This record gives sequence, structure tokens and C-alpha cells, in this order.
Amino acid sequence: MLGRLARWLRVLGFDTYYDREAEDDALIALCRREGRVLLTRDGRLARRRTVPHAVLLREEDPDAQLREVAGVFGIRRPLAFLSRCPLCNAPLVETPRAALRGEVPPYVWKTQRVFARCPRCRKVFWGGTHVGRIRARLSKLGLLE
Ligand SMILES: [Zn+2]
Repeated sequence: MLGRLARWLRVLGFDTYYDREAEDDALIALCRREGRVLLTRDGRLARRRTVPHAVLLREEDPDAQLREVAGVFGIRRPLAFLSRCPLCNAPLVETPRAALRGEVPPYVWKTQRVFARCPRCRKVFWGGTHVGRIRARLSKLGLLE
């Protein structure tokens, strides 16, 4: 149940694997193979001896979880703000506006200049009011200078 936390970590630019369907053994194997830290709310999983590095999260609320993770790792600001796809974790690729005609709503195409595309899920991102809301949220959590 850490999907929202995963999305926020990606917004901050952290390489974050998340799969709610994954079996414990597969997650542990992935952590070992890729040198990842396991974030979990499952104490039994966190204590398994084969887990190289686990952080047991106490909080339930996603904002509080983000604060908890930031505290553990000393995160004070984004690593690379809005550089990863929040849905699938792939690094976003800046995409020329001309290539996106017909792919984004006409108003967005007319008013926005900078676009990025996720090479994995193909979703297109642009600046806009939601970016202001994301900044406000992170600033409230003390994660934007
Ligand atoms: Zn994606």
C-alpha cells in the first residue's frame, strides 16, 4: 500500500520500483540484484535475513510516509524534480512541441512550450497548474527550498 509514496519519490527524482503484486521473494531478489533499499510496512518482511537493507515504515498517511522516508535518508530537496515518470519510474525525455500536435489537448498545445514523454508508458507531461500544486505540497513537507 505504498503506491502514493512511490509516486512522490519519483516526482522527487528517486529511482523507485513499485509493484503491489510482487511476491516477497521476488522483491528481495530485486533489492539484492539492483542494490535497492526495501521500504515496507511489513515488519516480518523487513526482518527477513535475506533482505540487504530495509526501512520499516510506521506511518500510514502518504505525506507522513514521505516525511518519514525523507528523515531516514536525510532528504531535504528533490534529487531531480519531475525527471521521472510518476506512474512507471522511467526517466522522462524532453520532447519537441511540434512532435506532439494532436497528442495533447489543443489548449495545452497552444499554451505550453516544454513537454516531456515517458519512453516506457508514452504518457506526455507538461508544466501547468498541477506543477504549482506539487511544489506547494512538497514545500509544506519541507522538501523544496
Ligand atoms: Zn511512464
